[in-house]
Amino acid sequence: MHPAVSLKQTAAPAARPIRRVLIANRGEIAVRIARACRELGIESIAVYSEADAGASHVRAADRSVLIGPAPASQSYLRGDHLIEVAKQLEADAIHPGYGFLSEREWFARAVREAGLIWVGPPAEAIAAMGSKTAARTLAIAAGTPVVPGTTEALRDAAQAAELAAQFGYPVLLKAAAGGGGKGMRVVRAPAEVASALESAQREAQNAFGDDAVYIEKYIEGPRHVEIQILADAHGTCVAVGERECSIQRRHQKMIEEAPSVAVSPELRKRMGDAAVAAAKAAGYVNAGTCEFLLDAHGEFYFLEMNTRIQVEHPVTELVTGLDLVQWQLRIAAGEQLPFTQAPEPRGWAIECRITSEDPAHGFLPSTGRITALHLPSGPGIRWDGGIEVGTTVGLSYDPMLAKLIVHAPTREAAIARMRRALQELVIEGVETSCEFHLRMMDDPDYQRGAVDIQWLEAKLPALLGAPAPEETLRAAAVGAVLLAERDRQGRARQVGNGSANGAARSDAVDAQGGASSEVRGWARLAREESLRRS
Ligand code: ADP
Repeated sequence: MHPAVSLKQTAAPAARPIRRVLIANRGEIAVRIARACRELGIESIAVYSEADAGASHVRAADRSVLIGPAPASQSYLRGDHLIEVAKQLEADAIHPGYGFLSEREWFARAVREAGLIWVGPPAEAIAAMGSKTAARTLAIAAGTPVVPGTTEALRDAAQAAELAAQFGYPVLLKAAAGGGGKGMRVVRAPAEVASALESAQREAQNAFGDDAVYIEKYIEGPRHVEIQILADAHGTCVAVGERECSIQRRHQKMIEEAPSVAVSPELRKRMGDAAVAAAKAAGYVNAGTCEFLLDAHGEFYFLEMNTRIQVEHPVTELVTGLDLVQWQLRIAAGEQLPFTQAPEPRGWAIECRITSEDPAHGFLPSTGRITALHLPSGPGIRWDGGIEVGTTVGLSYDPMLAKLIVHAPTREAAIARMRRALQELVIEGVETSCEFHLRMMDDPDYQRGAVDIQWLEAKLPALLGAPAPEETLRAAAVGAVLLAERDRQGRARQVGNGSANGAARSDAVDAQGGASSEVRGWARLAREESLRRS
């Protein structure tokens, strides 16, 4: 063996090959992990709840095990049971994906104590980054800039008001244990402090079993830009570029890109260095992400570190050519990163989260059975999905069904490609976010990249307000039927015949469902009328 290699390896944990992995997750990310395993010649074991029998991820893996009923608390969140299953089936490692148990320190520790390899960072690094306040303390010590604010939980409303006055309104109250945008309240005036604190604490207690809330300056109009990290167990920690995630609704990402229009090579280097410093301070190993807010002046502030693979990892993969999930497995098996610097981003990648939410109705969750699925294909298209025809979409899990990702030489070409891909995509059986994404691709602000994290909320009414031509037509048809009903009711009253009402209503119901011949007629008239007017 080469002396330099053996020297480095003695300092790191003993390398152990991974031959079989239990995937402690479901949906698209479980499919993604099974694919990475297969390409590396690793066997994969899927676990599934009763609601997920026959799901895509079950089929993607080499073997599968039923782990319990639909509620996650009785299946995907039963860490001890998952470890038992892994041991029974002689798996070497557990990959947690994102969500579920991925950022539970106790689980990472229990996996390790069971003699299994944890495909993720050390439990100590998860703990160090697990609470937002602890992460802030660590980042400050590492010299990474953080949003002005406290590193300790607030005692009461009086203290909160005092600190808010010091930082200047608006401020943000945030759950220390927070995630998924929960336990966060913007406060714009002293009068709002007490009730905001109370509701943030209540929400934090309910969501995380921990009511600790701290205070930060609320930054107006920043972008959310995050840095992907890869670190091996031999001391190499590399920033592999940024992702722009400013298109958010209720602090939840909807569309992500790499690179970011707001990041120059010089800023990329500075943000990358800051992220690496924070990761190293936590003793980080494996893939992770440092999230930052980037303001209009190019100042950036550390928000938190996600100690797992992220939903939006594919955009980084497409512009760097790195397979991040394969690297997670290789690093966990003790491999060394063969580079100390990441490649400069090549081209542009965009990801749209395809969720079972209905944008036309306030993004209400939609449930049902997928009855038809046509996937886009052709140049530069990637589909990371967890659905197929026959999949039942319920309310037990996250509404994200899949991710549609495109790669093209320029941002403009990537937007055009995403529009084309969304037009090709057909999902029937549930309402999806596709129409929202299509409208986004046509939005002039989005096309110019002139967005920040508050942009979408302000834009949504206008974006979704103008109905699509088909909807206009449908609405016109329904309206016409309702008018006809009123006329008929009038006539019925005149002749004293009450039954006409029912008949007319059934026509209107048809109009919303399958369209009766009368409705089709009205629709034709409405279309002719709109053509005549335009
Ligand atoms: P979570 O872990 O709940 O997702 P984050 O700290 O990552 O919470 O914040 C989620 C989102 O909330 C960010 O992407 C950003 O849009 C917004 N946000 C968080 N902190 C601030 C802040 N200090 N000022 C303005 N917006 C913020």
